[in-house]
Amino acid sequence: MIYLDNSATTRLDDHVLEAMLPWLREDFGNASSVYSMGRKARVAIEDAREELAHLIGAHPAELIFTSGGTESNNAVLKSMCQAGAVKQLAVSGIEHHAVLHPAQELAREGKGIGVHILPVNEHGFVESWEVQPLNSAQTLISIMHANNETGAIQPLTELRAAAPDAYFHTDAVQTFGKIPLDCTALGLDFATLSAHKIHGPKGIGALFIRKGIDFKAHQHGGAQERNRRAGTESPALIAGFQAAARAACKEMDTRAAQMLVCTQLLRELLLENVPLLRFNTPLDEHSALPNIVNISFLDAEKLDGEAILQAMDMRGIAVSNGSACVSGSLQPSHVLVAMSRADAEAKAAVRFSVSKDTRTEEIRGAVEVLRVILQEMREE
Ligand code: PLP
Repeated sequence: MIYLDNSATTRLDDHVLEAMLPWLREDFGNASSVYSMGRKARVAIEDAREELAHLIGAHPAELIFTSGGTESNNAVLKSMCQAGAVKQLAVSGIEHHAVLHPAQELAREGKGIGVHILPVNEHGFVESWEVQPLNSAQTLISIMHANNETGAIQPLTELRAAAPDAYFHTDAVQTFGKIPLDCTALGLDFATLSAHKIHGPKGIGALFIRKGIDFKAHQHGGAQERNRRAGTESPALIAGFQAAARAACKEMDTRAAQMLVCTQLLRELLLENVPLLRFNTPLDEHSALPNIVNISFLDAEKLDGEAILQAMDMRGIAVSNGSACVSGSLQPSHVLVAMSRADAEAKAAVRFSVSKDTRTEEIRGAVEVLRVILQEMREE
């Protein structure tokens, strides 16, 4: 199997598993307990919090652990709306469903929350003049750091400057550990992190909450995380998150360079071998993550997106696209639709996402398989 779906999830690194095991086998105590096994877990959790906070330019008290990106995103939107802190949500049209769906749900509840969908241009970027009119202390703006389908890195500094009075959240699930993230320098109020995109375990993430924000818990039943997130902490998952984040941030430049070798080769081979191609990932390497290449096809109405992915899977290649299957029919990727692609094109995209472990032979193999599949489909 050639695994090129690392934006969906990554393989757990061996050293990460090693860091987790003692907390599952021997030191399994509850971090809220007073006896020594509990206190040991508490110390480890606070050590992880300190290190992770440092990695994103934050203070440890500004970070809470959650079950991952989905929970962190839900928590920010729901907590700020339900506490009455904001009356309007402004979210970009290319957000992950873990932002878009809670926003829609909050609007549907009919408690006076308005939702404004920020458009993106054809390259997949939010523009600051779209954000400027939303500059109000009663608005929560949520714009992701980089998109999970296209890899486009949003100009957060500019976007934040366009709305200095609004609350500002960024979903940094795809960027944390891959490109620098400094929550304080960016002037963020909230940021969402997740471990499993950087070779950490699934089921653990964090939420940065700027000091001074009165954040109301989104789930109740315990005083953990300074009353901001009830539930027994998992020292094993937290230790795994810490180990994965430490390695990702320490090796950020070398990993990015390795991944760029793969994605640049991928672009070249695709251009040589696959006719009628369009790149949906920005060309400029400073505007896109080093690990994603998203393509679609100009003759998409003659192609079946699902069949392409299935055929690739049958030949051992794991890739994906952003289309969702709803009630048995394939829905176009909302990200590509927001970038003004026609529905047919937005249904038949292919996203390749590499990791530090991807080898160039795997890239060559995947392009060859796609070339053959498309040739067969186009000849039918
Ligand atoms: N946000 C983005 C941009 C993502 O890519 C993902 C994962 O696919 C999530 C949120 C959800 O994160 P998690 O899987 O940790 O809940």
